[in-house]
Amino acid sequence: MIETSPAPQTVSEPTQRAAGWFARFEDALGRADAPAVAALFAVDCYWRDLVAFTWNIATVEGRDGVADLVQATAARVKASHFAVDGEATAADGITEAWFTFETAVGRGKGLLRLKGELAWTLLTTLYELKGFEEKAGGLRDKGAEHGVVKERASWLDRKQRDEAELGYTKQPYAVIIGGGQGGIGLGARLKRLGVPTIIVDKHPRPGDAWRTRYKSLCLHDPVWYDHLPYIPFPDHWPVFSPKDKIGDWLESYVKVMELNYWSSTEAKSASYDEGKKEWTVVVERAGERVTLHPKQLIFATGMSAIPNEPSYPGMETFAGVQHHSSKHPGGDAFRGKKAVVIGSNNSAHDICADLWEHGADVTMVQRSSTHIVKSESLMELALGGLYSEEAVKNGVTTEKADLIFASLPYRIMHEFQIPVYAQIAERDADFYARLEKAGFLLDWGDDNSGLFMKYLRRGSGYYIDVGASELVANGDIKLKSGVSVTEIKPHAVVLSDGTELPADLIVYATGYGSMNGWAAKLISQEVADKVGKCWGFGSGTTKDPGPFEGELRNMWKPTKQEALWFHGGNLHQSRHYSLYLALQLKARMEGIATPVFGQGEVHHTS
Ligand SMILES: Cc1cc2nc3c(=O)[nH]c(=O)nc-3n(C[C@H](O)[C@H](O)[C@H](O)COP(=O)(O)OP(=O)(O)OC[C@H]3O[C@@H](n4cnc5c(N)ncnc54)[C@H](O)[C@@H]3O)c2cc1C
Repeated sequence: MIETSPAPQTVSEPTQRAAGWFARFEDALGRADAPAVAALFAVDCYWRDLVAFTWNIATVEGRDGVADLVQATAARVKASHFAVDGEATAADGITEAWFTFETAVGRGKGLLRLKGELAWTLLTTLYELKGFEEKAGGLRDKGAEHGVVKERASWLDRKQRDEAELGYTKQPYAVIIGGGQGGIGLGARLKRLGVPTIIVDKHPRPGDAWRTRYKSLCLHDPVWYDHLPYIPFPDHWPVFSPKDKIGDWLESYVKVMELNYWSSTEAKSASYDEGKKEWTVVVERAGERVTLHPKQLIFATGMSAIPNEPSYPGMETFAGVQHHSSKHPGGDAFRGKKAVVIGSNNSAHDICADLWEHGADVTMVQRSSTHIVKSESLMELALGGLYSEEAVKNGVTTEKADLIFASLPYRIMHEFQIPVYAQIAERDADFYARLEKAGFLLDWGDDNSGLFMKYLRRGSGYYIDVGASELVANGDIKLKSGVSVTEIKPHAVVLSDGTELPADLIVYATGYGSMNGWAAKLISQEVADKVGKCWGFGSGTTKDPGPFEGELRNMWKPTKQEALWFHGGNLHQSRHYSLYLALQLKARMEGIATPVFGQGEVHHTS
């Protein structure tokens, strides 16, 4: 059955075309006729599904891929009621249509792009489970019980009782290790879905993961990109949040969303009982050992959290201060001192600038090339269409922007990015020329696709310039490039070209390891290897070895270890993908069948 909503007076031609396609699609799906569904797609086509059909985050390609997906899922999913949402649009030979649909167990939304009469890209996403809708709008709780009740328990009484019980006399269904923005956003979604959850974090207060970073840190992404689920930032919020401000926001959010957040609590170990289908998670809560037995365990311990600590000959002899960038407190104590920062990506730049602001004599050591993009250019040319004041004015809500972003399959995403970065290169040509003149080694990614692809493929190798590059270009931050560190002496860093850089402080801005390192630390190496590397999708570019896997490895979807999940990424990704992870967890809690389609093999262990 095909409907259009809201029913326009006269249906535009693109809308008619899309509605016709959905009628054929629904008919063929209803018969689970895989070849007929596949024939509705172009030869080069992509169907990305976020949980609705696959109980996975999966993209299939080509008509064979579409047929496989239909074959495996259509009879069970029983997708129906496809309806074009609003008016479809047409430009450059592409018809684009938002749509809604239902499955046997839930309701979904999506975005279709047709080339002629055939589907080129199809995004299907689940947004709620039937019978388990979030208590929002008209479904909200009343809050008060009118009338007179003896021994009435107030909201506060009930809240305190629940908090005292959960984890002690009642077990949570889910435990999230890590209460940064990732754990908090997912915790909020689970709360709204009625999934008893405890978030544990070793810091004393929510938001401390940001507060404890160096003083000058501000978010590198603009506010429109950074909203948390349910509660957007108010419209006076600065474009780039200072880190302590974001810390306070997270702390307030935990309170307002009434999350079971155990601060000053460190997860020490976890093991899974295959028989009982239950985890044993040992945590230390303010000095006390507590054992939790959740059914699901989620690592939200941060993508940038397992430091790659380098090992150089002579490090133990160094007489000054040396630490990984994650432990760098800020430049206050280093006025007039000689600082050497090893590395040339985001953290290295931020730390060099901070040290320079505090009057240190700073040298950056760059071993290999880095991609640099000015924050303003990124905002205007790369993000502006979806996440900006202009986008808001054009009716691109955060949800719409997230879905548009999600609708571009990873296989072809770089094709849309390359022209954007070509434009940036042209616009900021003087800036790049000055940097190169200072000896800085620049790159634009293996295929010139720039920052976002580097982020998705390897999560490193770039700096969003908020000022440090100017200091590199004019020599205020000294630069040694194309060299590596060979030795550390008591008062110097020795480089591969023989240079000795005098140093009172060495900062190793050498990046972070894959999140499955957390599984190795807290569960076992065996489980870490079983689930394999997190992040990257097998693009075959630097630090993201093939084969092509279609989706980010292990993120927000089932892993090879039953009941173990990874959640993380930037604020945009955490906001968007926490919904799909939360729905997967809720479905399992409610005993809804969740057969997973398209779970690939593990090709890399770290
Ligand atoms: C210089 C810099 C600039 C950045 N700018 C941006 C930006 O503009 N936008 C953006 O989206 N992101 C930015 N990031 C990335 C930022 O780190 C992440 O977006 C964000 O911190 C990820 O949140 P998270 O919750 O996944 O992880 P984290 O914030 O790292 O939180 C992980 C939490 O896990 C806890 N934890 C770890 N192990 C345990 C354990 N065993 N027991 C209990 N708790 C544990 C930690 O205490 C921590 O609180 C930036 C990062 C840096 C370094």
